[in-house]
Amino acid sequence: MGINRREFLKIVGISAVAGLGGATAVDLLRRAPVEASQVSPNPKALTAKRWAMVIDTRKLTEADCKRMIEACHRVHNVPDIGTKQEVKWIWTEEYEHAFPDDMNKFVSDEVKHKPFLLLCNHCDEPACVRVCPTKATYKRPDGIVMMDMHRCIGCRFCMAACPFGARSFNFGDPRPYIKEENRKYPTRMRGVVEKCTFCTERLEEGLMPACVEVSNGALIFGDLDDPNSEVRQVLRSNYSIRRKPNLGTQPCVYYIV
Ligand code: SF4
Ligand code: SF4
Repeated sequence: MGINRREFLKIVGISAVAGLGGATAVDLLRRAPVEASQVSPNPKALTAKRWAMVIDTRKLTEADCKRMIEACHRVHNVPDIGTKQEVKWIWTEEYEHAFPDDMNKFVSDEVKHKPFLLLCNHCDEPACVRVCPTKATYKRPDGIVMMDMHRCIGCRFCMAACPFGARSFNFGDPRPYIKEENRKYPTRMRGVVEKCTFCTERLEEGLMPACVEVSNGALIFGDLDDPNSEVRQVLRSNYSIRRKPNLGTQPCVYYIV
């Protein structure tokens, strides 16, 4: 990942001394080898009190979904393993699997067979965070649920706890399966869990998430806490659903169907 364990511990140590907390330690890691003391926030960074995504499924075709999946997996070095041990950050499922609570036999064929784009819901009450023994997975103040690959011990409790199948485990070395490595983003190793990060590295640069950028307006990303944000406007004017709401995790990805 471009940094060794000793350097990692040094950075975490600097964060702890400065009282900056785990999230900041990971942010600092991304900027390594720059010394922590030299890091200042990017003035262009996009910020929010509570990031959320709205997916307007009426605007999405199979080809659109494929384009978004490719964009995400390309920028994040997600390996293309193609077996049951696949690693995925964003993927598609049919309605009955995506929204089992809502399924009824009168749903139109169009909806029934449409591909629904799925990703980590960055839940308000993330089951994955509660069960992680090392705090490798944690929720940031802006609501994004993150993974610290260096802390992950591969126990997979988070995978068992997530009711959305949003996490993947690297059963083997994923690196040989990366089609074209993006040198600006870390690769992972065997034995760690990974998932969608709402593109925190792009938000820091003032960019929208990669899937949103190529969505032609079908994906809307913004601050749920801001009543004037586009996500709030879209949610006000359209009926939306969330995945498995009865489980109480409070997903922050909304679907207009
Ligand atoms: S979707 Fe799963 S992995 Fe993502 S925050 Fe919710 S419980 Fe955690
Ligand atoms: S928000 Fe970023 S990491 Fe998450 S699915 Fe979209 S492109 Fe991938």
